[in-house]
Formats: sequence, C-alpha cells, structure tokens
Amino acid sequence: MSEIEKDLLVSDEEAGEEKVSKNFIEQIIDKDLAEGVYDTVRTRFPPEPNGYLHIGHAKSILLNYGLAQKYGGKFNMRFDDTNPTKEKIEFVESIKADIQWLGADWEDRLFFASNYFGDMYEAAVKLIKKGKAYVSDLTAEQIREYRGSFEEPGKNDPSRERSVEENLQLFEDMKNGKFADGEKVLRAKIDMASPNINMRDPVIYRVAHMTHHNTGDQWCIYPMYDFAHPIEDAIEGITHSICTLEFEDHRPLYDWVVRELEYPQPPKQIEFAKLYLKNVVTGKRYIKKLVEEKIVDGWDDPRLVSIAALRRRGFTPESIKKFVELCGVSKANSIADYAMLEYCIREDLKAKAPRLMAILDPVKLVIDNYPEDQVEWLEAPKNLENEELGSRQVPFSKELYIEREDFMEEPPKKYFRMFPGNEVRLMNAYFVKCTGCVKDESGKVVEVHCTYDPETRGGNANDGRKVKGTIHWVSAAKAIKAEVRLYENIIDEEKGVYNEDGSLNLNPNSLTVLKECYLEPAFAGAKAYDNFQFVRQGFFCVDAKDSTEDAMVFNRIVSLKSSFVLPKN
Ligand code: ATP
Ligand code: MG
Repeated sequence: MSEIEKDLLVSDEEAGEEKVSKNFIEQIIDKDLAEGVYDTVRTRFPPEPNGYLHIGHAKSILLNYGLAQKYGGKFNMRFDDTNPTKEKIEFVESIKADIQWLGADWEDRLFFASNYFGDMYEAAVKLIKKGKAYVSDLTAEQIREYRGSFEEPGKNDPSRERSVEENLQLFEDMKNGKFADGEKVLRAKIDMASPNINMRDPVIYRVAHMTHHNTGDQWCIYPMYDFAHPIEDAIEGITHSICTLEFEDHRPLYDWVVRELEYPQPPKQIEFAKLYLKNVVTGKRYIKKLVEEKIVDGWDDPRLVSIAALRRRGFTPESIKKFVELCGVSKANSIADYAMLEYCIREDLKAKAPRLMAILDPVKLVIDNYPEDQVEWLEAPKNLENEELGSRQVPFSKELYIEREDFMEEPPKKYFRMFPGNEVRLMNAYFVKCTGCVKDESGKVVEVHCTYDPETRGGNANDGRKVKGTIHWVSAAKAIKAEVRLYENIIDEEKGVYNEDGSLNLNPNSLTVLKECYLEPAFAGAKAYDNFQFVRQGFFCVDAKDSTEDAMVFNRIVSLKSSFVLPKN
C-alpha cells in the first residue's frame, strides 16, 4: 500500500468511520440477508460471446466475483448466447481465459444460456396458459407503430385476444418451423398504455431460421434478451443479478417475468454505472474495425484496453483490481482517468518487478584507462525497495552503452550528466570523467570517451568527492540485444476520440519501435509476461506474441513519471 493510501486510511479511522464504507449494492445485500429475502448470495457474469472483454467488463467480473467471495456465496460464469447471429467460439475461449487470468473462479459453474432453450420454451408456454402471452401476426414495423411513444399510449395488437388454445397451437407451429422469419412473434400481454415502453407487450420470442453455435438447428425460434435473462438467473438460483444502468428501465419487465413464472425465490436486478475511461476506445464496434483494418495487431494489441491487451502490455490482475476498487461502485455515470490505471500498475510493480539496466537509445561509452579484456562482475540489488528479490551480478567492461541523451557536447545549464570535463557516477560501478567524443561525417556522436577512477568502485569516492549525475549503462561485450516498443494513446487526445463522421481520431505516433536496445545479462531467461523496471525508463513487459528466446521484445507498460494524484474522497 502506498503512503498516500495509508494516509487515507488513517484519516478514515480518525473520523471514526469504517475503513472502507460499503457500496450501495453491499447495502442492498446486507438488508436482503437480514430480512431473510435470501439466505445466500449468488452472482454471475453473463457476457455475450461477441467480442473480447475490456476493462469495463473487468469491473463487472470483479464486482460480481468479489461480492460472492465477501458473502461466502457463489459466482457463476454464464455465456449469454441466446442470440445466434454473432457468437463465435474464438470469443468464448478468450473470455474464459481473461476471467481466469483476473482470478475470478467459477469452479464447476460454467453455463451456457442456450442450454436453457428448453426451459425458456416451457416458460413461454406457461405464460400462454396463464393468458399472459399471445402470438402476434404484426410485422416488426407494425409493432413499432402500435407501440406509441413517450407522449402517447400504444394500441392493442389485433391478435391480443386470441384464445389460449389458439396461441398454444401457433406457438408450437412457430417452434416447428411453419413460419418464416418475422412472420409471427410471441408477445407478453402486459399493458399497452404503460408509461414504461418496455412494458407495452414486449416481444419475447421470435422466429429465426439460423444455426446456433451450441444448439445447431434444433431451434428456429429464439427468446429475446429481456425474457431470457431473468429465466437464466432464476434457473441458476442467482440472488442479485447485477447489470449496468441502461437496463434500469427494463427492471419492471425483469420483475414481471420472474413473478409471472412463479419462481419461489426470484432473483433481483440491480444496476450500476458503467466504467468509462477518458479518451480511450472501449466499444467493440470500433475495436473490431481497428482489428479488421489492421491498424492494430489484433484484439490484444497493447494499445487497446481489452483485457487481453492489458495483459499483453504488462498490466497485472492486481493492478486492475486496485483500479476498479478506486473507481468504486455507484449509480452515477463518471469517467475515470487512464492515468489512474497507470498509477495502479506502478504501485503494484514498484516493489515486485526487478529493477535492471537497459539502454533504449544507445551510444557507446569507451573508458580509455580501463584494461582491454577485463570484465568485473559487480553485485547490485535487484530492487532497492524489496530485498527479497536478492541481487544480481552486473558485468563492467571497457566499452559500455549509455543513453544518447545522457551525453551532450555543449550542455545547457543544470545538465549534470556526461559532457567533456564532467565527472558522473555510473550506477553501482565507478566515477568516470568525460574526455570527449568521436563523431561521424554527419556530425553524429558515435562514441563518448572517458576515464574511470579505480578508487570509486561501487559508486562512491573515499575522499568525499561528490558528483551530481548518476547514469545507467550496459556492458557492450555482455549486452543482450532486444526490441522495445513504446506506446502512446491510439487516440489523438488533443482532437478527442471521434471525428464528426463517427470515425476515430488516430494518433500517428501511438507506436514507436526501437530495434536496437541493450539489456544487462540479468534479463536472460525472461519469459512472456515477465515484468521489469528499466532504470530511469519505466515499467516494461516481455511481449507474449512476438518475443522469442533469441530475440526478446518488450512493451513499455508505463513510464516512471506521473501527474496523477490519488483523489481524496
Ligand atoms: P454489447 O453492447 O455488445 O452487448 P456489452 O459491453 O454490454 O456489449 P456484454 O457481453 O453484454 O457486453 O457484457 C457483459 C456484462 O458486462 C454485462 O453485465 C454488462 O453490463 C457488463 N459491462 C459491459 N460494459 C461494461 C462497462 N463499461 N462497465 C461495467 N460493466 C460493463
Ligand atoms: Mg450487452
């Protein structure tokens, strides 16, 4: 926990409040348990397998899983695959992998809504028998016309008073493929004058001659979401069915469905505000387009905020958990800052990741008075903030690489790094004094020269002499060559996310590829997803897609600098 966060906790305690106050959903659950509405908590995450999950879904997953854990209840994983048009196996697999990676454990409760098609059909028959549903002959367009508007009540469907027998027969005919798509629908019989348009006899079943990824051609009628979802919840014994705010106006219909179907312990729908990130694209439609147009390298391109992309970039499940906690759970829409997500990964990695030396924009440093073939192995801690990580051996030799920006032939004021005549510390090694440089015909510096002081091994002078600059370096003889990718927002933040025509404002500089970077040998053996701090540069992660054993590729997760301050609330 960071200092700022500790401060926050202390001030809460001083105020005599609970350390972390309960969110509004927890308050509802507490009340339900106290009043005996439910004696357990069962939540679910119900994605539609029509794309990859993103940071917003992570919030929903961690919220649902977290509540089940907190109350000793259960968390179900359910694919909401009642719509046969869009679902894809690729998405099913990616969603499962992402949820597992986040650490939300559904144990043996992995469900597919399409496995309940039989129950949903029976439920519809039950409604027909109760006189609460009827088969309509109206076309989709007519249904829309009859529905009325916010100002006007709707008109009754001419088929509304069909007998139960006739409805049962027609519904069975729908199921048996006797009608073409759109020829008949089943509608709930509620109230065409309801102020809530969702309650004006909503369509609950439609004819669609389509092959479903799970049930194949078994069905040619499919339930509508508002009818299917409460049934799915009720079948699984869900107590608190948590969804996002756009379903608030659908709640009366949800309640109507579970009431009319007479479930003994009906689930309860609770809505919360979606997570939005400022200047970040999360919409599936946009990401799909970026993928299809090959502007990004797949759904897991490190510039995106799909869970797979965040993982590939180097974010950890802990950092994402921290982030959604800081965002909080509320009914009010708000927009979070990407900088807060960056804050969370820095906090998580600063003590966890080894802090090693890497040169991203190399120039050679030659130590003229250092023996030609000598290599000294210097010991240095892997992370000053975490002794448990131990130490590593860093080779020192006559030729090193340093960052090009750490040398200037004619330095401005307050530049304390390498320039002719100046002495600096090579981190963990020696003091060196710059003597000059060698340039090519174009005037580009190709070598910096210096001499070292053998009395300063370890990086300190016995005579109390001080230097103002400390720079990092890598032995040229022992360096590992690697590729490093630097990222910026894929959106041009100055211009905003969308153009007038709905297209995205892309930032042409969102990816910088550095082909010739040098790493110290302690990086050897780094595997996909391993995280590191590169001294003075930021946090980096081994790219899982393009890295090989012989040629490592690193993604910069985040730089070290931050303008973000944890809000006090
Ligand atoms: P679509 O518009 O394609 O339906 P969706 O984002 O709603 O996309 P679902 O698969 O239906 O995708 O979402 C699964 C769950 O995740 C739902 O319960 C939904 O409310 C929740 N969810 C989706 N986006 C967010 C978000 N930005 N913040 C929090 N929860 C979200
Ligand atoms: Mg949805």
